Amino acid sequence: MSDVAAGVTAPPTGQSTKAAPTAPAHRGSLADAIQPVEHETRDRIITGALTVIPFLLLGFVAWQLAGSWLRWSDLVVFALLYIPTGFGITVGFHRLFTHRAFKTGPRTRAVLAVLGSAAVEGPIISWVADHRKHHAFSDEEGDPHSPHVGHGEGFKAQLKGFFHAHVGWLFIHTQRGSKERFAPDLLKDPIVSYVDRTFLVWAIGGFIAAFFLGWAIGGTVMAGVTGLLWGGAVRMMVLHHVTYSINSLCHMFGKRDFETTDESRNLAWLAIPTFGEAWHNSHHAFPTSAVHGMKGRQIDPSAAVIWSLEKLGLAWDVVRIAPEKQAAKATGVAAAQ
Ligand SMILES: [Zn+2]
Ligand SMILES: [Zn+2]
Repeated sequence: MSDVAAGVTAPPTGQSTKAAPTAPAHRGSLADAIQPVEHETRDRIITGALTVIPFLLLGFVAWQLAGSWLRWSDLVVFALLYIPTGFGITVGFHRLFTHRAFKTGPRTRAVLAVLGSAAVEGPIISWVADHRKHHAFSDEEGDPHSPHVGHGEGFKAQLKGFFHAHVGWLFIHTQRGSKERFAPDLLKDPIVSYVDRTFLVWAIGGFIAAFFLGWAIGGTVMAGVTGLLWGGAVRMMVLHHVTYSINSLCHMFGKRDFETTDESRNLAWLAIPTFGEAWHNSHHAFPTSAVHGMKGRQIDPSAAVIWSLEKLGLAWDVVRIAPEKQAAKATGVAAAQ
C-alpha cells in the first residue's frame, strides 16, 4: 500500500499523519474527508449548463457536417486546443499535482496548471482533492465517483453506477474531497493557489484562444466563430467525456494486469484519446508512477511528454517502477503471459 500512500497524501510538511491512508482501516474518518458544501445550487446550474449546452451545439455541428460546411480550420483549432489542455489534465493535474510522479520548476508548474484549468474540469485544488479522495477510498464508501458503491445489484444498478461515475457525481457535493485534508501541499503552493483562484480566467481564456485561432487560421471572423465552437465547446465536451470515461469505463471494463483492492481496469482502445490514462489498473497499482502504460505496446503519450520534459532538463526525479516491483503485483493472468 505504500505506493498508494505516497501517491495520495503525505504533503512535504506536517499534517499528513492523520490523513495517510495506508490501508482501508487507516483511511481516517469519512467526515473530515469531505469538503464542506458551498454554493451548491449555483455549482449545479453551472455543471448542468456545461454538460448540456455542448450537446445542444452538437446539433449545429451535425448540420455543419451534413452541409459539408465544416472548415478544415475548425479541426485544426480543435486539435491545437485539445492536445495542450488534455496534457494539462493528464501530465499536469493528474501525474504532477495529484501524484507527484516527477518534479519540475515553477514555470513548467504554472504552464501545466494553466493548461489543465483551461480544460474546464474545475479549479485545480478541488480537482486534486477529489482525485486523491478517489484513490484513498477507491471503490469503497467515500469514493466520490465509484460505479460500484451504493447502487445495488443487477443490470439496472450497474447502469446507475455507470452514470454516477461518469457524470452524476459532479452534481453531488456531499462526497467531494476536503482540500484541507487531501491537498494541504497545494493550498500552501503560491503558484497553484493563484491559478486555482483565477480558474475562470484560464477557462474563459481557452474559449477566447479558440476564437482567435479560428480567425487567424481560417482568415474570416466566421471562421473565428466556428473555431470557437470546435476549439471551445466541442473540445471541452470531448475532453470532459474522455476524462469521465476513466472514472466510469476504466472501473468497469478492461483487463486487470495488476492486483489492486479496487475495480480499476486497463482499457486499451481508450489509451490514445486519454493520452495514456486508460491504463488505469496499472495506475491504481502504482499511483506515483509517471508511466501508466507499463508494458511494451501500451501507448502512453503522457509518459512520452514527461520523458521529453526530462530530456529537455525541465523534469527530474521521474518516478518509474522497477520490473521486480511490477512482477510482485502482477495478476495471475498477467504473470502467466
Ligand atoms: Zn480510478
Ligand atoms: Zn490517479
